[in-house]
Amino acid sequence: MSQISITVDGKQLSVEADQRPTHIFADNKEIVVCKINGQLKDLWTDLAQGDVVEGILISSPDGLAVLRHSTAHVMAQAVQEVYANTRLGIGPPIKDGFYYDFDPENTFNPDDLTKIESAMRKIIKEGQRFRRRVTTEAEALKELAHEPYKCELIGIKGPAGEEASVEVGGAELTIYDNLGRDGNPVWSDLCRGPHLPSTKHIPAFKLMRTAAAYWRGSEKNPMLQRIYGTAWPSQDELNAYLELLAEAEKRDHRRLGTELDLFSFPEEIGSGLAVFHPKGGIVRRAMEDYSRIRHEEEGYEFVYSPHITKAALFETSGHLQWYADGMYPPMILDEEYNADGTVKRAGQQYYMKPMNCPFHNLIYKSRGRSYRELPLRLFEFGTVYRYEKSGVLHGITRARGFTQDDAHIYCTKEQMVGELDSLLTFVLNLLRDYGLNDFYLELSTKNDEKFVGEDSDWEEATEALRKAATAQNLELVLDEGGAAFYGPKISVQAKDAIGRTWQMSTIQVDFQLPQRFELEFSATDGTRQRPVMIHRALFGSIERFFGVLTEHYSGAFPPWLAPVQAIGIPVADTFADYLGDVIKQMRKAGIRAELDASDDRMQKKVRNAQMQKIPFMVIAGEEDQKAGAVSFRYRDGEQKNGIPIADAIAEIKKVVQERTQV
Ligand SMILES: [Zn+2]
Ligand SMILES: [Zn+2]
Repeated sequence: MSQISITVDGKQLSVEADQRPTHIFADNKEIVVCKINGQLKDLWTDLAQGDVVEGILISSPDGLAVLRHSTAHVMAQAVQEVYANTRLGIGPPIKDGFYYDFDPENTFNPDDLTKIESAMRKIIKEGQRFRRRVTTEAEALKELAHEPYKCELIGIKGPAGEEASVEVGGAELTIYDNLGRDGNPVWSDLCRGPHLPSTKHIPAFKLMRTAAAYWRGSEKNPMLQRIYGTAWPSQDELNAYLELLAEAEKRDHRRLGTELDLFSFPEEIGSGLAVFHPKGGIVRRAMEDYSRIRHEEEGYEFVYSPHITKAALFETSGHLQWYADGMYPPMILDEEYNADGTVKRAGQQYYMKPMNCPFHNLIYKSRGRSYRELPLRLFEFGTVYRYEKSGVLHGITRARGFTQDDAHIYCTKEQMVGELDSLLTFVLNLLRDYGLNDFYLELSTKNDEKFVGEDSDWEEATEALRKAATAQNLELVLDEGGAAFYGPKISVQAKDAIGRTWQMSTIQVDFQLPQRFELEFSATDGTRQRPVMIHRALFGSIERFFGVLTEHYSGAFPPWLAPVQAIGIPVADTFADYLGDVIKQMRKAGIRAELDASDDRMQKKVRNAQMQKIPFMVIAGEEDQKAGAVSFRYRDGEQKNGIPIADAIAEIKKVVQERTQV
C-alpha cells in the first residue's frame, strides 16, 4: 500500500493511502467528524496527499450540530419504521436540538413520541453506519419518487433557504444510506451531511414535542407535523439541559406576569402590545425612577419626542431605505378632497417611530452648538414600535411596542475615548445595581465589505471600545466583521441566575447619522466640525429588562422592586387592629405595605403571601402586641421574632435603600 503525507491536528504524518480519519482518530471517541482542508467532512472520507485534517469533538459547536442532525435522521428513520406511509420534509439541527418535518397519515400524539423514541434506541444500538453516496439529479428523483417534498428540494436550483440547506445546497447532490449489520442499506435520506460515523455515536437524546409547521415556512404550502428533539454528548448533559428547561419554565415571565398580576396582552389590542397592571406598574416605575436618578447624576439631559413623524425624517435617517420591513406601514394624514370626492391635495405619510435617534438629532440641530456643550448626552424613555413577525414575539422580551431607555451622546473625536470608557463603567455598575453581576463583553468590528466613514475613524473608535472593554477585566469576545455598516459596537451580555445569557446594553458608535443630518459644532478655532455620535441603550427596552429581571429573580423581586414590600398577617382577628396600625406606620415611612384583612385563616394568608413572593410577611400575635413588636417571616420560610416596631421599619427601609435581596 502506498503512503501519503498529511497533516493531522497540526502534525505531519505519513499514513497508508487507504487510511481514513475514522482510523486516524480511532483512539479518541470524542472525535465524531473532522475538517479536511477547512471543510467539515465525515470521518469516512477518503484522504489525499497533502490533506490538512482536524478532528472535531462532539462537544464543539460543529460536533453538536452534526450529532443533532444525525439524531434527526435516526428519528426520521424510526418514524418511517413505525408509520410506514409518512413522507419526509426537512430535518435541520437548531439551538440545543433538532427537528424534522413529516407528512404523516395521522397527526402525531404524545404516545407516538414514546414509540418513536424506542424505535430510535434500537437503531442506535445497532450501530448503523452513515454512508455518503454521490448521486445525480435524475437518479435521485427516481430513487426518491415516493418522497414528493424531497423531490421538490432536488429541483431547487438557487439557495434552498437556510433550513433546507442541510439536505441540498452542497457542491454535489448526495444521499446518506444507513447500513445495517450486514452492510446493506436499511434506510436512506437525501442529505448534504456530514454525519456521525455511526448511529451508536449518539450518547443521549430525547424527543420533546410536536408542532404544526408549513412546508418550507409558507402558508401557501401544505401543513406538516414537526417533531422537536434534543441530543447531547452525555446523559448528564441531557439531564442538566432538561432541568434547565424545567427551571426556565417555572420562571417564564409570561407565566409569572399572570400569576403575579404584573401585565397582560389583551387580544383586543393586538399581538406584542402589553398593558402593565398596577403591580407591574410599580416594578416598572421603580426601575425607571432609579435609572432616571442615576442618569441625572451622570450628566444626562432628559428629552421627549412624539411617537409619529413624517416620512421625510426617516428618509434622512436612512431607516426607510434599510429598515422599512421592521416598521409599521405609514398612515396618510391631511389629505384634502374636492366636492366630488376626488383628492384635491395629496396627504402626508406619517410613520410610527422604530427608533428615537432621528428625533434627538433634530434636538441637537435646533440651534448652533459649541464645543463647550460637548459631550451632550440626551436621554429619553422613548416608546418605539417595530413590526416584528408574529412568530418571533415572546411576551415582553420581544414585543411590537416597547420603551427604550435610549441615550445619544454627541462628543468630539478627542472626547470619544474617555466617553466610551466612563460609559461602559456606568452601564455595568447600573446593571449590577439591578442585581445582574455576571457579564462578558462582545466587540463587533468593521465588516470590510460594507461600511461608511474613514478607516482611521473606525480604527480609533474600535481601539477606544477595546480599551474601555479591557479595562473592565471581563471576558471579551470578538465578533470580527460583525459591526453594522455605520460603526463598531460593544454589547454587554449578562448571565442570569440559571446561567442563561441575555444581551443587555449596547454601546454603538455611529459615523453615519451625523453626516446624514449634517450635525456640526463650532470648535475652539472657530471651524465647523462634525461630532461623533454614540447610541446607547442600557436595558435595551424597559419591558425586555423587566422580563429578564422577572426570570432572573423568578418573580421574587428584591424589596426595592417588589410591588408589595411588606404584608401584615395577624395571627388571629384580635390582633388585626394592632397590626393595622403598624402597617400604617410603615406606609407613612414610605414602605409599600398592606394588611391582609381577609377572612382567610393565618396559614392561608401566609401561603398567599408566598405565592405573591412578598419579601416581608409582618406577623403579630399576643406576645408581639404585648411587647410592641412584630415578627418577620421571609420568602424562604425563615422567621425572626420580637422585632420592635421601629426596628422593623428601619430594617425594611435599609434593604430597600441598599437595593439588597432578602
Ligand atoms: Zn440530513
Ligand atoms: Zn439611536
